[in-house]
Amino acid sequence: MSRVLEELKSAGISFSTDYEDLIAHCKDFNPLHQLKLLKKLTPALPEVVVFPKNVEEVSKVLKIANSLRTPVYVFGGASGVIDSATPYEGGIALSTLGLDWIEIEEENRIVTCGSGVVGGRLEKILNHRGFSLRHIPQSLYCSTVGGWVATASSGQFSTGYGNIEDLIVSLKAVMPNGEILEERKTPRRAGVDLKRLFVGSEGLFGVIAEVTMMIFELPKESFKLSFEYESIESALEDAKRFLSLKPALMRVFDDEETLRYFDSEAFSLIAIFEGNGAVESGKIARS
Ligand SMILES: Cc1cc2nc3c(=O)[nH]c(=O)nc-3n(C[C@H](O)[C@H](O)[C@H](O)COP(=O)(O)OP(=O)(O)OC[C@H]3O[C@@H](n4cnc5c(N)ncnc54)[C@H](O)[C@@H]3O)c2cc1C
Repeated sequence: MSRVLEELKSAGISFSTDYEDLIAHCKDFNPLHQLKLLKKLTPALPEVVVFPKNVEEVSKVLKIANSLRTPVYVFGGASGVIDSATPYEGGIALSTLGLDWIEIEEENRIVTCGSGVVGGRLEKILNHRGFSLRHIPQSLYCSTVGGWVATASSGQFSTGYGNIEDLIVSLKAVMPNGEILEERKTPRRAGVDLKRLFVGSEGLFGVIAEVTMMIFELPKESFKLSFEYESIESALEDAKRFLSLKPALMRVFDDEETLRYFDSEAFSLIAIFEGNGAVESGKIARS
């Protein structure tokens, strides 16, 4: 590891071996890890945490790691729940949080940002300009754009707008040997689709460094509905019927979740219709 630290230093990469930083990068949000931490046990520890600030620095880190055969674990918001980035082999934890640039192209309805941008920050900035990602996972405020791609994330508005794979336009990624690959910012193109390869890759194929995503104008019209049912079957029956009306959001809750969220002993369904014709669709659903 001392060679790795020397090379990181001479490459001008910001890094830390402080215990607090190692602890902060020892696990994701998997509940079993939380139990361990309560007992003051760490599931694993990296030997160093690196904080690259741009794509070139990510490339330098991966080149160093590759030449010295050192494992690299990629960390965004660490809100993942499947234990995929736990540094069981020690090595380098690479935090993407320094990759935090945001460039909005209103006319083209796209935003390009560093993969470490936290979703909640991005959504707020877009909202101030009258736009939205319409990718709203429950972990919006503790997950990153790169993490969304790497975990094939789904959001609350995915019923209407699609999952993350439907919303990304292009990627810039750094391969394990440090090579930088960049796609053109066009929705479709001939040849291998890099972004499809990286969706759900969980850090296996390299580091997603930059992501370009579609953005949507905040809807001027919306219609919100909620229903209670005596059985899950009747809730699902309505859900099937509503799908043809193309809701932006639709969720069915079982009795336990309904009690937790709405303090009611029933099964429930909520739906939001957005955009032109939202009120009309909502009224049909309600009838
Ligand atoms: C309370 C809570 C609510 C949640 N709600 C949802 C939800 O509604 N929808 C949903 O889909 N998920 C949800 N999740 C799961 C989690 O938030 C998502 O999987 C999220 O996309 C992870 O993003 P992250 O930035 O935290 O990634 P991390 O947890 O840091 O990383 C997750 C995986 O992606 C890899 N990775 C991260 N960034 C990069 C990168 N730039 N390049 C390459 N690999 C990378 C990591 O190595 C790891 O394998 C929830 C989690 C919690 C704790």
